[in-house]
Amino acid sequence: MHLLQEELRKQESSLCVACQTSKKSIALVPCGHVCLCPACADQIALTTKKCPLCTRKIESQLKVYL
Ligand SMILES: [Zn+2]
Ligand SMILES: [Zn+2]
Repeated sequence: MHLLQEELRKQESSLCVACQTSKKSIALVPCGHVCLCPACADQIALTTKKCPLCTRKIESQLKVYL
């Protein structure tokens, strides 16, 4: 059971901080935070253009594979 809980926690922490449903797979430049899924990264690029974790301005986005 311990292993399963471990696994669930890992999956939880790999979820997008904005929608909490998709896996995060976008790295924000220059802050380097990986906290968004592609859909939410697109949304933020159109709206606030700020990282939801540190609120630094997003210059660009990089697709990453975790
Ligand atoms: Zn998302
Ligand atoms: Zn950030």
